[in-house]
Amino acid sequence: MGSAGTARLLISNGGEFALELTVEPWAETHQMLPKQTWVVVTHSAADGSWSGTLRGDEPFQVDHRPESVTVWVNGNCFHLSDTEGDAIDSADWHCPAQGVSS
Ligand SMILES: [Zn+2]
Repeated sequence: MGSAGTARLLISNGGEFALELTVEPWAETHQMLPKQTWVVVTHSAADGSWSGTLRGDEPFQVDHRPESVTVWVNGNCFHLSDTEGDAIDSADWHCPAQGVSS
């Protein structure tokens, strides 16, 4: 018997310039300022699987380029917030943790 999982990823901009953060597959783009740290949370399907990957237990993939970072979220939803817990963005209409099933 599986259960929905929660995965959390911290992202920090340790550079001196703004960094473009893109959350895929929703293509949501945000500018991270230097010294900012954000938290990306995603939830798995009810059976514990990550719908966006065929390779098993991989809730996230991160692709880095010189001035941008792309986070591929392999769960059903994403919740982006700062380290204070204040929401920045989300795509949570399929979020199992909020009782909404796809
Ligand atoms: Zn969720």
